[in-house]
Amino acid sequence: MTEKAHKGVLVYAEHNKGIIHKVSYELLGKGRELAEKLGAPLYAIILGPKDIDIKELIYRGADKVFYIEDDVFNKPEEMLYKINLVEAIKDIKPEICLIGATTFGRSLAPRVASALGTGLTADCTELEIDDSDKLIQIRPAFSDNILAHIHTVTYPQMATIRYKEFFEAKRDINREGEIVKKQGIIPETRLVEILEEIKGDGIDITEAEVVVAGGRGIKTPEDLKLLKELADLLGGMIGASRDLVDQGYISSDYQVGYSGHRVKPKLYIACGISGAPQHLAGMRDSELIIAINTDPSAPIFNIADYGIVGDLYEVVPMFIEKLKRQES
Ligand code: FAD
Repeated sequence: MTEKAHKGVLVYAEHNKGIIHKVSYELLGKGRELAEKLGAPLYAIILGPKDIDIKELIYRGADKVFYIEDDVFNKPEEMLYKINLVEAIKDIKPEICLIGATTFGRSLAPRVASALGTGLTADCTELEIDDSDKLIQIRPAFSDNILAHIHTVTYPQMATIRYKEFFEAKRDINREGEIVKKQGIIPETRLVEILEEIKGDGIDITEAEVVVAGGRGIKTPEDLKLLKELADLLGGMIGASRDLVDQGYISSDYQVGYSGHRVKPKLYIACGISGAPQHLAGMRDSELIIAINTDPSAPIFNIADYGIVGDLYEVVPMFIEKLKRQES
């Protein structure tokens, strides 16, 4: 299809058992900006069970919401989502399609792009419209050393965007929009069917307001208790560099960084973390960064708001003691 056959910006609204993921609101915020520059409508599409609060997507900026309603979408079956999303996109013909780079979105987006025969830029950190109304997809490349500006020459121009990259669209309960219900395509035989979901420990480090993260400066898995004590006192969670995860000290649910989770807490305390680009990619946007490291030349100090050159085994207990004294 040619460029002219495509119009509008489409945001894929992710949900978990009917609860809309906040990344959807972030994409609607950025999507609105892009749609206005293009003079085009902003669409959202959601594949979900009955009784999702669809209007919320309109309050957050969508002009039209396509709702493929079926309880089967309570389960994150990518193949089923893919079939339905691909057919819907063929119908809607948006010029831009945005998907959150969540665990699910990262699995879904390439399947959809491939089925549509279009390109996909993963993990964008910024999106712009150029003078010829094409989408510029900006993302770090070569270990964050350059910011690549990428054009997709096929349509729709598809991108995934990391959670917490953009601000959520403001909520306006007076906004009006259209809700279009679409019939789901549920094949009788499915290549993949989820029979059982096994719950992890339910932690979501991306939502933490305080993260106390440990790196290779931590000598044994038991020593993570020290960081946990500090995190608990601050009402936060612990995080980890990939090295700690690779050593089996802690599960990947806690990994911060390029191949882990991206966090944007109010406070990030990096304990014994050198500050490799792949780690910084996941935490550099934290509001306040405190780094504790014995090596004064550790790169983490280049981005830290406060740097403490010292042994974490001495500094962290001092923090804990001070906080405990304040509490009592
Ligand atoms: P190190 O680099 O070994 O640093 C340990 C630091 O602790 C040193 O600076 C040292 O001075 C300090 N230290 C030692 N003892 C103490 C003490 N007692 N008190 C205070 N400081 C002390 N890494 C991630 O973290 N997240 C990712 O998502 C990620 N993704 C990656 C993806 C790819 C494709 C690749 C190639 C790598 C990735 N990495 C990732 C790995 C990354 O390159 C680094 O190897 C890793 O971040 C280093 O972890 P670290 O800082 O804990 O360890």
